[in-house]
Amino acid sequence: MLEHQGLLRTQRVVEFIHGIRLTIGSRELINFSSNDYLGLASHPAIAEAMGEGARRWGVGSTASRLICGTTEEHAALEEELSLAKGTQAALVFSTGVAAAAGTIPALAGKGDVIIMDKLAHACLIDGAHASGATLRVFPHNNLDKLESHLRWASKTHSGGRILIVTESVFSMDGDLAPLHGIVELKEKYRAVLFLDEAHAVGVRGAWAQGLAGELGLNGRIEIQMGTLGKALGVSGGYIAGSRQLIDFLINRARSFIFSTAPSPAVAAACRASLRIVQSPEGDLLRNRLRENLQLFASEMKIPEPPSAIVPLILGSEARVLQETARLQSEGFFIPAIRYPTVPRNTARLRITLSSAHLPEQIMRLAAVLKESGLRE
Ligand SMILES: *Cc1c(COP(=O)(O)O)cnc(C)c1O
Repeated sequence: MLEHQGLLRTQRVVEFIHGIRLTIGSRELINFSSNDYLGLASHPAIAEAMGEGARRWGVGSTASRLICGTTEEHAALEEELSLAKGTQAALVFSTGVAAAAGTIPALAGKGDVIIMDKLAHACLIDGAHASGATLRVFPHNNLDKLESHLRWASKTHSGGRILIVTESVFSMDGDLAPLHGIVELKEKYRAVLFLDEAHAVGVRGAWAQGLAGELGLNGRIEIQMGTLGKALGVSGGYIAGSRQLIDFLINRARSFIFSTAPSPAVAAACRASLRIVQSPEGDLLRNRLRENLQLFASEMKIPEPPSAIVPLILGSEARVLQETARLQSEGFFIPAIRYPTVPRNTARLRITLSSAHLPEQIMRLAAVLKESGLRE
Protein backbone atom coordinates (compact mmCIF):
# COMPACT_ATOMS: atom_id res chain seq x y z
CA MET A 1 0.00 0.00 0.00
CA LEU A 2 2.66 2.53 1.07
CA GLU A 3 4.93 1.34 -1.73
CA HIS A 4 2.15 1.76 -4.28
CA GLN A 5 1.70 5.39 -3.12
CA GLY A 6 5.42 6.09 -3.27
CA LEU A 7 5.42 6.52 0.51
CA LEU A 8 7.29 3.42 1.70
CA ARG A 9 10.29 4.34 3.83
CA THR A 10 13.38 2.15 4.07
CA GLN A 11 16.72 2.63 5.77
CA ARG A 12 19.85 3.01 3.71
CA VAL A 13 22.93 1.61 5.37
CA VAL A 14 25.82 4.04 5.17
CA GLU A 15 29.13 2.26 4.61
CA PHE A 16 31.28 5.34 5.08
CA ILE A 17 30.68 8.95 6.00
CA HIS A 18 33.10 11.78 6.59
CA GLY A 19 32.20 15.42 6.10
CA ILE A 20 30.16 15.76 2.94
CA ARG A 21 31.23 12.40 1.47
CA LEU A 22 29.29 9.23 2.06
CA THR A 23 29.22 5.75 0.58
CA ILE A 24 25.96 3.84 0.14
CA GLY A 25 25.66 0.61 -1.86
CA SER A 26 29.38 0.85 -2.71
CA ARG A 27 28.83 4.25 -4.37
CA GLU A 28 30.59 7.34 -3.16
CA LEU A 29 28.25 10.33 -3.21
CA ILE A 30 28.37 14.00 -2.26
CA ASN A 31 25.91 14.52 0.57
CA PHE A 32 23.51 17.45 0.23
CA SER A 33 21.04 16.17 2.83
CA SER A 34 22.62 16.29 6.27
CA ASN A 35 22.04 18.81 9.07
CA ASP A 36 25.79 19.05 9.69
CA TYR A 37 25.77 22.64 8.42
CA LEU A 38 29.24 23.54 9.71
CA GLY A 39 30.96 20.20 9.10
CA LEU A 40 31.50 19.71 12.83
CA ALA A 41 30.33 16.06 12.98
CA SER A 42 33.75 15.03 11.67
CA HIS A 43 35.84 17.74 13.34
CA PRO A 44 39.05 16.22 14.77
CA ALA A 45 39.10 18.37 17.95
CA ILE A 46 35.52 17.33 18.79
CA ALA A 47 36.29 13.66 18.12
CA GLU A 48 39.33 14.03 20.38
CA ALA A 49 37.18 15.57 23.14
CA MET A 50 34.75 12.66 22.88
CA GLY A 51 37.58 10.10 23.11
CA GLU A 52 39.14 11.92 26.04
CA GLY A 53 35.74 12.15 27.72
CA ALA A 54 35.24 8.39 27.33
CA ARG A 55 38.67 7.65 28.78
CA ARG A 56 38.05 9.93 31.74
CA TRP A 57 34.40 9.16 32.53
CA GLY A 58 33.71 5.83 30.80
CA VAL A 59 31.40 5.45 27.83
CA GLY A 60 28.07 5.54 29.65
CA SER A 61 26.53 7.77 32.28
CA THR A 62 25.28 4.71 34.30
CA ALA A 63 22.07 6.34 35.54
CA SER A 64 19.49 9.07 35.09
CA ARG A 65 20.49 12.66 35.70
CA LEU A 66 18.86 12.81 39.13
CA ILE A 67 20.51 9.61 40.42
CA CYS A 68 24.23 9.84 39.57
CA GLY A 69 24.19 10.66 35.85
CA THR A 70 25.02 14.38 36.15
CA THR A 71 28.79 14.73 35.78
CA GLU A 72 30.86 17.89 35.80
CA GLU A 73 30.75 17.71 31.97
CA HIS A 74 26.94 17.95 31.99
CA ALA A 75 26.99 20.81 34.50
CA ALA A 76 29.64 22.72 32.53
CA LEU A 77 27.82 22.14 29.23
CA GLU A 78 24.61 23.57 30.71
CA GLU A 79 26.46 26.59 32.09
CA GLU A 80 28.12 27.23 28.72
CA LEU A 81 24.85 26.77 26.83
CA SER A 82 23.07 29.30 29.04
CA LEU A 83 25.90 31.81 28.43
CA ALA A 84 25.67 31.23 24.67
CA LYS A 85 21.90 31.69 24.69
CA GLY A 86 21.90 34.65 27.07
CA THR A 87 19.64 32.95 29.62
CA GLN A 88 19.98 32.28 33.34
CA ALA A 89 20.10 28.51 32.92
CA ALA A 90 19.87 25.56 30.53
CA LEU A 91 18.98 21.88 30.76
CA VAL A 92 20.37 19.13 28.52
CA PHE A 93 18.27 16.16 27.37
CA SER A 94 19.37 13.07 25.42
CA THR A 95 17.78 14.43 22.20
CA GLY A 96 15.82 17.40 20.94
CA VAL A 97 12.78 15.14 20.67
CA ALA A 98 13.14 14.30 24.38
CA ALA A 99 13.46 18.01 25.24
CA ALA A 100 10.15 18.78 23.50
CA ALA A 101 8.41 15.64 24.79
CA GLY A 102 9.36 16.46 28.38
CA THR A 103 8.93 20.21 28.37
CA ILE A 104 5.66 20.91 26.55
CA PRO A 105 3.50 18.61 28.74
CA ALA A 106 5.26 19.96 31.86
CA LEU A 107 4.26 23.52 30.94
CA ALA A 108 0.71 23.04 29.69
CA GLY A 109 -2.17 20.73 30.54
CA LYS A 110 -5.93 20.57 30.90
CA GLY A 111 -7.38 24.08 31.07
CA ASP A 112 -4.46 25.56 29.11
CA VAL A 113 -4.20 26.34 25.37
CA ILE A 114 -1.32 25.55 23.02
CA ILE A 115 -1.25 27.58 19.79
CA MET A 116 1.07 26.10 17.19
CA ASP A 117 2.31 26.83 13.67
CA LYS A 118 0.90 24.41 11.09
CA LEU A 119 4.40 23.35 9.99
CA ALA A 120 5.78 22.69 13.47
CA HIS A 121 7.99 19.61 13.83
CA ALA A 122 6.43 16.24 14.77
CA CYS A 123 7.98 16.31 18.26
CA LEU A 124 6.25 19.62 19.04
CA ILE A 125 2.92 18.26 17.83
CA ASP A 126 3.40 15.07 19.89
CA GLY A 127 4.31 17.12 22.96
CA ALA A 128 1.18 19.23 22.53
CA HIS A 129 -1.06 16.17 22.13
CA ALA A 130 0.50 14.50 25.17
CA SER A 131 -0.08 17.60 27.30
CA GLY A 132 -3.89 17.39 27.32
CA ALA A 133 -4.10 21.14 26.64
CA THR A 134 -6.54 22.49 24.04
CA LEU A 135 -4.68 22.73 20.73
CA ARG A 136 -5.15 25.44 18.10
CA VAL A 137 -3.12 25.53 14.88
CA PHE A 138 -2.47 28.66 12.78
CA PRO A 139 -1.52 28.63 9.08
CA HIS A 140 2.23 28.80 8.60
CA ASN A 141 3.66 32.13 9.83
CA ASN A 142 0.20 33.77 9.73
CA LEU A 143 0.22 36.46 12.45
CA ASP A 144 -3.44 37.42 11.91
CA LYS A 145 -4.61 33.89 12.59
CA LEU A 146 -2.23 33.60 15.53
CA GLU A 147 -3.78 36.76 16.96
CA SER A 148 -7.33 35.54 16.50
CA HIS A 149 -6.46 32.30 18.34
CA LEU A 150 -4.81 34.36 21.11
CA ARG A 151 -7.87 36.60 21.40
CA TRP A 152 -10.13 33.54 21.61
CA ALA A 153 -7.90 31.79 24.16
CA SER A 154 -7.60 34.82 26.43
CA LYS A 155 -11.43 35.06 26.55
CA THR A 156 -12.25 31.38 26.98
CA HIS A 157 -9.27 30.22 29.09
CA SER A 158 -8.58 33.28 31.19
CA GLY A 159 -7.50 31.16 34.16
CA GLY A 160 -5.14 28.99 32.13
CA ARG A 161 -1.79 29.39 30.45
CA ILE A 162 -1.48 30.18 26.75
CA LEU A 163 1.62 28.63 25.17
CA ILE A 164 2.69 29.55 21.62
CA VAL A 165 4.88 26.89 19.99
CA THR A 166 6.85 27.52 16.82
CA GLU A 167 10.22 27.10 15.12
CA SER A 168 12.63 29.90 14.22
CA VAL A 169 13.98 28.19 11.06
CA PHE A 170 11.48 25.69 9.67
CA SER A 171 13.01 22.28 9.17
CA MET A 172 11.55 21.32 5.78
CA ASP A 173 11.13 24.80 4.25
CA GLY A 174 14.16 26.65 5.60
CA ASP A 175 12.18 29.89 6.04
CA LEU A 176 12.10 32.05 9.18
CA ALA A 177 9.31 32.74 11.64
CA PRO A 178 8.25 36.43 11.93
CA LEU A 179 9.71 36.45 15.42
CA HIS A 180 9.29 40.16 16.25
CA GLY A 181 5.59 39.96 15.47
CA ILE A 182 5.13 36.74 17.41
CA VAL A 183 6.88 38.15 20.49
CA GLU A 184 4.75 41.30 20.36
CA LEU A 185 1.51 39.33 20.12
CA LYS A 186 2.68 37.02 22.88
CA GLU A 187 3.23 39.99 25.19
CA LYS A 188 -0.04 41.67 24.21
CA TYR A 189 -2.02 38.57 25.18
CA ARG A 190 0.21 37.54 28.11
CA ALA A 191 1.07 34.22 26.52
CA VAL A 192 4.34 32.29 26.81
CA LEU A 193 6.58 31.40 23.84
CA PHE A 194 8.30 28.05 23.22
CA LEU A 195 10.76 28.54 20.33
CA ASP A 196 12.44 25.58 18.63
CA GLU A 197 15.79 26.75 17.23
CA ALA A 198 16.93 23.32 15.96
CA HIS A 199 17.98 24.60 12.51
CA ALA A 200 18.97 28.12 13.54
CA VAL A 201 21.65 27.49 16.15
CA GLY A 202 25.10 27.77 14.57
CA VAL A 203 23.54 29.17 11.37
CA ARG A 204 21.70 32.36 12.44
CA GLY A 205 23.23 34.90 14.79
CA ALA A 206 26.75 34.94 16.14
CA TRP A 207 28.06 31.99 18.19
CA ALA A 208 25.32 29.49 18.99
CA GLN A 209 22.72 32.21 19.48
CA GLY A 210 20.07 31.28 16.96
CA LEU A 211 17.50 33.69 15.57
CA ALA A 212 16.31 34.87 19.01
CA GLY A 213 19.82 36.09 19.84
CA GLU A 214 20.36 37.54 16.36
CA LEU A 215 17.23 39.69 16.74
CA GLY A 216 18.01 40.59 20.36
CA LEU A 217 14.83 38.85 21.51
CA ASN A 218 16.30 36.16 23.77
CA GLY A 219 15.35 38.09 26.92
CA ARG A 220 11.71 38.12 25.78
CA ILE A 221 11.34 34.42 24.93
CA GLU A 222 10.54 32.20 27.88
CA ILE A 223 11.56 28.82 26.46
CA GLN A 224 14.34 28.42 23.87
CA MET A 225 14.78 24.86 22.68
CA GLY A 226 17.50 23.43 20.46
CA THR A 227 19.42 20.35 19.46
CA LEU A 228 23.11 19.53 19.76
CA GLY A 229 22.85 17.10 16.84
CA LYS A 230 22.51 19.47 13.88
CA ALA A 231 24.94 22.37 13.29
CA LEU A 232 26.73 21.42 16.52
CA GLY A 233 27.42 18.03 14.98
CA VAL A 234 27.09 15.82 18.10
CA SER A 235 23.79 14.75 19.73
CA GLY A 236 21.43 15.86 22.46
CA GLY A 237 18.80 18.52 23.03
CA TYR A 238 18.38 21.42 25.42
CA ILE A 239 16.03 23.96 26.90
CA ALA A 240 17.38 27.41 27.83
CA GLY A 241 15.45 29.86 30.00
CA SER A 242 15.08 31.26 33.50
CA ARG A 243 16.50 29.48 36.55
CA GLN A 244 12.93 29.03 37.72
CA LEU A 245 11.92 27.32 34.46
CA ILE A 246 14.91 24.96 34.55
CA ASP A 247 14.37 24.05 38.24
CA PHE A 248 10.73 23.34 37.39
CA LEU A 249 11.69 21.09 34.45
CA ILE A 250 14.21 19.16 36.58
CA ASN A 251 11.23 18.20 38.73
CA ARG A 252 8.57 17.81 36.05
CA ALA A 253 9.98 16.86 32.63
CA ARG A 254 9.44 13.12 32.49
CA SER A 255 11.86 12.53 29.60
CA PHE A 256 14.56 14.17 31.74
CA ILE A 257 13.74 12.43 35.02
CA PHE A 258 13.21 8.87 33.78
CA SER A 259 15.91 8.55 31.11
CA THR A 260 19.57 7.55 31.33
CA ALA A 261 21.69 10.69 31.19
CA PRO A 262 23.54 11.38 27.93
CA SER A 263 27.05 9.92 28.00
CA PRO A 264 29.56 12.26 29.66
CA ALA A 265 31.76 11.72 26.58
CA VAL A 266 28.93 13.14 24.45
CA ALA A 267 28.64 16.11 26.83
CA ALA A 268 32.41 16.67 26.50
CA ALA A 269 32.10 16.58 22.70
CA CYS A 270 29.21 19.09 22.82
CA ARG A 271 31.36 21.43 24.93
CA ALA A 272 34.19 21.20 22.39
CA SER A 273 31.74 21.89 19.57
CA LEU A 274 30.27 24.92 21.36
CA ARG A 275 33.77 26.30 21.89
CA ILE A 276 34.48 26.03 18.16
CA VAL A 277 31.13 27.54 17.16
CA GLN A 278 31.87 30.54 19.42
CA SER A 279 35.46 31.00 18.21
CA PRO A 280 36.90 32.80 15.14
CA GLU A 281 36.94 29.36 13.46
CA GLY A 282 33.17 29.28 13.96
CA ASP A 283 32.85 32.70 12.28
CA LEU A 284 34.92 31.39 9.38
CA LEU A 285 32.70 28.31 9.00
CA ARG A 286 29.52 30.42 9.09
CA ASN A 287 30.97 32.78 6.47
CA ARG A 288 31.86 29.85 4.25
CA LEU A 289 28.33 28.47 4.63
CA ARG A 290 26.92 31.86 3.66
CA GLU A 291 29.19 32.05 0.59
CA ASN A 292 28.08 28.54 -0.41
CA LEU A 293 24.42 29.53 -0.06
CA GLN A 294 25.00 32.67 -2.14
CA LEU A 295 26.76 30.67 -4.85
CA PHE A 296 23.97 28.06 -5.01
CA ALA A 297 21.30 30.77 -5.10
CA SER A 298 23.01 32.66 -7.91
CA GLU A 299 23.53 29.46 -9.94
CA MET A 300 19.88 28.47 -9.44
CA LYS A 301 18.62 32.06 -9.93
CA ILE A 302 16.72 32.02 -6.64
CA PRO A 303 16.83 34.53 -3.77
CA GLU A 304 19.50 33.90 -1.14
CA PRO A 305 18.02 31.42 1.36
CA PRO A 306 17.75 32.60 5.00
CA SER A 307 19.04 29.25 6.31
CA ALA A 308 21.07 26.27 5.11
CA ILE A 309 17.90 24.49 3.91
CA VAL A 310 16.73 24.94 0.31
CA PRO A 311 13.56 23.03 -0.60
CA LEU A 312 12.73 22.26 -4.22
CA ILE A 313 9.05 21.36 -4.06
CA LEU A 314 8.10 18.99 -6.88
CA GLY A 315 4.63 17.91 -5.68
CA SER A 316 4.20 14.26 -6.52
CA GLU A 317 5.97 11.42 -4.74
CA ALA A 318 6.77 9.71 -8.06
CA ARG A 319 8.45 12.81 -9.46
CA VAL A 320 10.62 13.37 -6.42
CA LEU A 321 11.65 9.69 -6.23
CA GLN A 322 12.62 9.80 -9.89
CA GLU A 323 14.66 12.97 -9.32
CA THR A 324 16.41 11.49 -6.30
CA ALA A 325 17.45 8.48 -8.38
CA ARG A 326 18.70 10.71 -11.18
CA LEU A 327 20.75 12.83 -8.75
CA GLN A 328 22.20 9.67 -7.25
CA SER A 329 23.31 8.48 -10.68
CA GLU A 330 25.07 11.85 -11.03
CA GLY A 331 26.87 11.34 -7.70
CA PHE A 332 24.65 13.36 -5.32
CA PHE A 333 22.79 12.14 -2.26
CA ILE A 334 19.51 14.04 -1.74
CA PRO A 335 16.70 11.75 -0.52
CA ALA A 336 13.04 12.39 -1.30
CA ILE A 337 11.12 14.11 1.50
CA ARG A 338 7.52 12.97 1.45
CA TYR A 339 4.29 12.80 3.44
CA PRO A 340 3.99 12.58 6.46
CA THR A 341 7.19 14.60 6.98
CA VAL A 342 5.68 17.31 4.74
CA PRO A 343 2.02 17.89 3.73
CA ARG A 344 0.57 15.81 0.88
CA ASN A 345 1.35 17.02 -2.65
CA THR A 346 4.40 18.95 -1.47
CA ALA A 347 6.98 16.15 -1.88
CA ARG A 348 10.36 17.75 -2.27
CA LEU A 349 14.08 17.59 -2.53
CA ARG A 350 15.35 19.10 0.70
CA ILE A 351 18.78 20.35 -0.26
CA THR A 352 21.03 21.37 2.60
CA LEU A 353 24.33 23.14 2.25
CA SER A 354 27.34 22.95 4.50
CA SER A 355 30.44 25.04 4.98
CA ALA A 356 32.32 21.91 3.91
CA HIS A 357 30.95 21.85 0.34
CA LEU A 358 33.36 23.01 -2.34
CA PRO A 359 32.26 25.62 -4.93
CA GLU A 360 32.71 23.13 -7.81
CA GLN A 361 30.40 20.62 -6.09
CA ILE A 362 27.73 23.28 -5.66
CA MET A 363 28.00 24.46 -9.26
CA ARG A 364 27.79 20.91 -10.54
CA LEU A 365 24.71 20.18 -8.43
CA ALA A 366 23.04 23.34 -9.76
CA ALA A 367 23.90 22.30 -13.34
CA VAL A 368 22.40 18.82 -12.82
CA LEU A 369 19.23 20.29 -11.26
CA LYS A 370 18.83 22.76 -14.11
CA GLU A 371 19.20 19.98 -16.71
CA SER A 372 15.78 18.67 -15.72
CA GLY A 373 14.33 22.16 -15.53
CA LEU A 374 14.32 22.12 -11.75
CA ARG A 375 14.07 25.53 -10.19
CA GLU A 376 12.14 26.81 -7.30
C1 LIG B 1 15.57 17.56 14.38
C2 LIG B 1 14.55 18.41 15.02
C3 LIG B 1 14.20 18.22 16.35
C4 LIG B 1 14.70 17.05 17.14
O1 LIG B 1 16.02 17.16 17.55
P1 LIG B 1 16.85 15.80 17.76
O2 LIG B 1 18.01 16.24 18.57
O3 LIG B 1 17.21 15.33 16.40
O4 LIG B 1 15.97 14.83 18.48
C5 LIG B 1 13.32 19.11 16.92
N1 LIG B 1 12.79 20.13 16.22
C6 LIG B 1 13.10 20.34 14.94
C7 LIG B 1 12.51 21.49 14.23
C8 LIG B 1 13.98 19.47 14.30
O5 LIG B 1 14.25 19.67 13.01
